[in-house]
Amino acid sequence: MPDFDLIVIGGGPGGYRAAIDAARLGAKVALLEKGSPGGTCLNQGCIPKKTLVHLATLLEDVGELLGRGLGGELRGNFRQALAHKDEIVSAIRSNFGVWLKRFGVEVIAGHGRLLRCGSDECAVALDPAPDGAPASLSAGRIIIATGSEPVRLEPADPRILTSREFLTEIDELPDSILCIGGGAVGVELAYFAHQFGAGVCLAESQAHLLPSMNLPDRAINYLERKFRRLGIETMFGTRVTACVPAVHGIEATFSDGSRRTFDAALVALGRRPVLRRLGLEAAGIAVDADGYIEASAYCETSVPGVYAVGDVTRGPMTANAALHDAKVAAANAILGNHVKRNYFKVPTVINSALEIAAVGLSEEQAEAAGFEPEVARASLGGCVKARAHHDFEGFYEIVLDAETGQLLGGCIVGPEAGEQIHLLAAACQSNRGLWLFKDMSYSHPSWCEELETAIDPYTAALSRSGRELFTPGILAMH
Ligand SMILES: Cc1cc2nc3c(=O)[nH]c(=O)nc-3n(C[C@H](O)[C@H](O)[C@H](O)COP(=O)(O)OP(=O)(O)OC[C@H]3O[C@@H](n4cnc5c(N)ncnc54)[C@H](O)[C@@H]3O)c2cc1C
Repeated sequence: MPDFDLIVIGGGPGGYRAAIDAARLGAKVALLEKGSPGGTCLNQGCIPKKTLVHLATLLEDVGELLGRGLGGELRGNFRQALAHKDEIVSAIRSNFGVWLKRFGVEVIAGHGRLLRCGSDECAVALDPAPDGAPASLSAGRIIIATGSEPVRLEPADPRILTSREFLTEIDELPDSILCIGGGAVGVELAYFAHQFGAGVCLAESQAHLLPSMNLPDRAINYLERKFRRLGIETMFGTRVTACVPAVHGIEATFSDGSRRTFDAALVALGRRPVLRRLGLEAAGIAVDADGYIEASAYCETSVPGVYAVGDVTRGPMTANAALHDAKVAAANAILGNHVKRNYFKVPTVINSALEIAAVGLSEEQAEAAGFEPEVARASLGGCVKARAHHDFEGFYEIVLDAETGQLLGGCIVGPEAGEQIHLLAAACQSNRGLWLFKDMSYSHPSWCEELETAIDPYTAALSRSGRELFTPGILAMH
């Protein structure tokens, strides 16, 4: 008999979610973690970032209301913000083991490495072996959730930071920062650094911010406009060709040949999977040319019984996607392959100078998939809650199928977009389509009532047509 039904390697959101779900299905589960439980997300990613960006947003929001019933002097204190962030992260981290134990997951500290994978049993070496525990453990199924690490630039220097060092190691905010890369991490940390007083210049090799996020142009234009208004400098179509330590900072050379010196550089050029000493080759697990573990729609690797989830596989490198994979992989590992992953169900959220959230199919994707997409729109300018909060920069865009009224996706820009998107995500999975928004009762004033405002013209037209069709919309997409 194997020691466990399932061994999960890696304790980030992909790993811990899979372990909990499998334990809830009655499996005996071990979770191996070589570093801090919670993974990138808790220790160097989502949670510290969200804590700091929340403070940055408060600074901006309260600043906007000074003289409108609020008075006094307001400014950010970087050191206190870091201490606050550390307190929050360590409180969650210290509770992690207890939390997992409560679900019946055995957490084992150490580096896991696959030794061999047979049809009914896999063996994993543990390094270093904890006192009294065997150096190798066996299980019927394995889930690999070893995550990713930031891409670094050479030469190494304490002033050339990745998000990891930015969020965990510095204790002074540099006066000037060059942010290299305008993806999610770049725009989020650039906003935070700017709000706390740093001069920020963001260089992006593509023509716009968030180039690979499949967000509507309008959302990106809003964010770029807001960056300009706040005074965050952006350079588009510009690559940083060299970034070298100099006497008074970091000297950056740009693709147009110009050079500038900054106190520090934040390298936000993406992340790559962590596969070191994982024993993939010995186990016969296929890895693609970019170093991601190949996984099927069931999250199963090329070796039956071994699954892979989260950043270590190709897909959106977000905790949201890792949590989605984890549910799929845990169910399939314990009950047999029957659930497929579907990233169209998984929201994308950006927490920057504006909150941007999207789910499902974009208009272009919907068209390519054979729907007849229409885009229903509403502006936050017409939302009374936004007016009451004096915070009305944003909009709703909802993609629907004109023939059936099935909701296919959409994008929300504005306060709490990352919360509101869940309603849109649920509606996209409902066979009631846009009727779901029409039949709901909303609290007033609220942000979400704008979802109804947006789809109203379409419900009227659809009810006049008498059509009552349903297509599975994003549920049909994989
Ligand atoms: C600055 C920043 C902000 C982010 N903000 C968000 C956000 O707001 N929302 C969002 O959805 N995503 C966000 N992300 C992305 C998110 O953090 C990752 O996508 C997510 O953590 C991936 O989860 P994972 O479980 O695949 O891997 P990870 O979280 O990287 O966890 C992997 C774990 O495996 C462990 N491990 C590795 N190898 C071994 C081994 N051989 N044996 C044992 N343990 C091992 C590691 O120590 C680590 O703890 C952010 C990322 C960054 C960098």
